[in-house]
Amino acid sequence: MNLRLCAAGAAALIVSACQASNQPAPPPPSDDSAIAPILTGADAIDIHSYAKPLEARVTHVALDLAVDFTAKRVGGTATLDVDAKPGTKQIILDDKGLEIESIADASGKPLDYTVGAVDPILGAPLAITLGEARRIVIKYKSAPDSEALQWLTPEQTAGKKYPYLFSQGESINNRGWIPTQDSPGIRQSWEAKISVPAPLTAVMSAPKAAEPLTQGGMRSFTYRMDYPVAPYLIAIAVGDLQFRDLGPRTGVWTEPSMLDAAAAELSDTEKMVSAAEALYGPYRWDRYDMIVLPPSFPLGGMENPTLTFLTPTFIAGDKSLVSLVAHELAHSWSGNLATNATWADFWLNEGMTTYAQSRIVESLYGPRVAQQQIALGIDALDKTIAENGGPTGADTRLHLSLDKRSPDDGLTDIAYEKGAAFLRMIEANVGRERFDAFLKGYFERNSFKPVSSKIFLADLRANLVKGDAAMESKLKLDEWVYQPGLPSNAIPADPKAFAESDAAVAAFAKGAAPDTAAWGRWTTDERLRFLNRLPRKQPTPRLAALDSGFGLNAVRNSEVRFAWLDLAVANHYQPAVPSLEEFLTMQGRRKFIRPLITALAADPAWGRPIAARIYAKGRPIYHPMVTGELDKLKLGG
Ligand SMILES: [Zn+2]
Repeated sequence: MNLRLCAAGAAALIVSACQASNQPAPPPPSDDSAIAPILTGADAIDIHSYAKPLEARVTHVALDLAVDFTAKRVGGTATLDVDAKPGTKQIILDDKGLEIESIADASGKPLDYTVGAVDPILGAPLAITLGEARRIVIKYKSAPDSEALQWLTPEQTAGKKYPYLFSQGESINNRGWIPTQDSPGIRQSWEAKISVPAPLTAVMSAPKAAEPLTQGGMRSFTYRMDYPVAPYLIAIAVGDLQFRDLGPRTGVWTEPSMLDAAAAELSDTEKMVSAAEALYGPYRWDRYDMIVLPPSFPLGGMENPTLTFLTPTFIAGDKSLVSLVAHELAHSWSGNLATNATWADFWLNEGMTTYAQSRIVESLYGPRVAQQQIALGIDALDKTIAENGGPTGADTRLHLSLDKRSPDDGLTDIAYEKGAAFLRMIEANVGRERFDAFLKGYFERNSFKPVSSKIFLADLRANLVKGDAAMESKLKLDEWVYQPGLPSNAIPADPKAFAESDAAVAAFAKGAAPDTAAWGRWTTDERLRFLNRLPRKQPTPRLAALDSGFGLNAVRNSEVRFAWLDLAVANHYQPAVPSLEEFLTMQGRRKFIRPLITALAADPAWGRPIAARIYAKGRPIYHPMVTGELDKLKLGG
């Protein structure tokens, strides 16, 4: 997802917000009365939702909510349109910690409801007796500790003046602020009226439906998504935000002091949208805006439709980390148009997107850059397989078994990089032209629909393999999707992609001094390859040579800094500790925080006291998604 926009000053903000995100959404894809389909097969049963959509399902959500920064709650009403099988008495929603005040039908007549037992991962089922009602109005508040919402104090923002709120719905967090059927297979159109304290701005993952209104110290914003989307894609951010156009249909929102840097880093976005369209067909969501969030945003990016959410840590000053934007943009097809029906098939969102990301990067920056990023991805995949039980580890399958587990357990490079490797293998075997035509057709055939591994494989067989038995056996399709490890027909990384970095690794390993001239001319990807490929055990004087030669403790590029600190922590390299402390307390991206804190905590003598001190300092800016995991390390006591 992405977001963008606006000029300076409150008045200008209103105007430019309109210019940017205000077009009414184009009409839904098929005929007006069409309700997005629900899959019926065993592969579509979502064990992470209590909903029974074949009996009664939500088709539209209308929110009317006020944002209360003091109480850390959003509250108001959710009005749900329901489609139910004749004779159905009840609808079941997902609820995580909501405080429900009342539930009524459209005429205000109260409806009976019960909240079932709470599961720590799933929350609770909210069962509502429907009677004849097909519209229900739920009056409620979110809990102050909802995992979906992060509330920042003014001090935790770039501007230090106003508070900030943002949501993160994927995978099953939105049930903590929206009472609906929180399953990716149950697509819903939605609209929202959001009231926030003036002069703040609320942006959401949908086109703007009306101009903001200011009244009694509050400003209200309205958004409307006419396309049916998976409910995890409903997102909000509220803060002191400005917008700037980047192109005819692209732009960026962020805090005023970050706007210049964000816009400069994102200046290729319009070209990326065109490159993606050339590959996968028309961009269906009208605008592609982005919002660069405060540093506590736990992810790299989140593909919220019409408004990608981005970490500020991708801003390197030289666009060297903008493949992140290509990734979130590619989700406009894989993930947002054709969406994994359940989290067991998360690879359909992420693997296809990672593949498409490298194709967009190739279009803009050339095949060498793309090949290097693919090689880094293969390194990451090899590491992930090793960490997940090796080639026979159950979690190295693309189609996962997540019974009694959080869907976030599937958020690994298996989904991203093994998924991408699968598609690269198919491309290599059938030829790029044929594979591109197939993928374009696949997105067309599955637009605004849930998909599963079974559906993807059937579509591939029907439209690409077409009964060619030799091709079928060459591709090993079922082995890729349902078996662990990496099949033998995986395409290896181009050995020449990093010839120079790899030679430098070998030289350094034999005792050579760090090659500062080479480092100076290398790209970010080449530097990453070098650091990641160094032998993991390094004596202190060798680390000192690297640090003084390359200035690693002070490097501003977040990925390079992380790669260095990872090596430094593995070797208890004390001179890196101040740099480590700075890095872990200036941002809250899970990809960086979790492995470093975990590695420190695992080392009782040297690392654990450092982890305890840094975690205590960094924790206030970390997202609940991050603290939820790291609190388990019990660093406090
Ligand atoms: Zn993604």
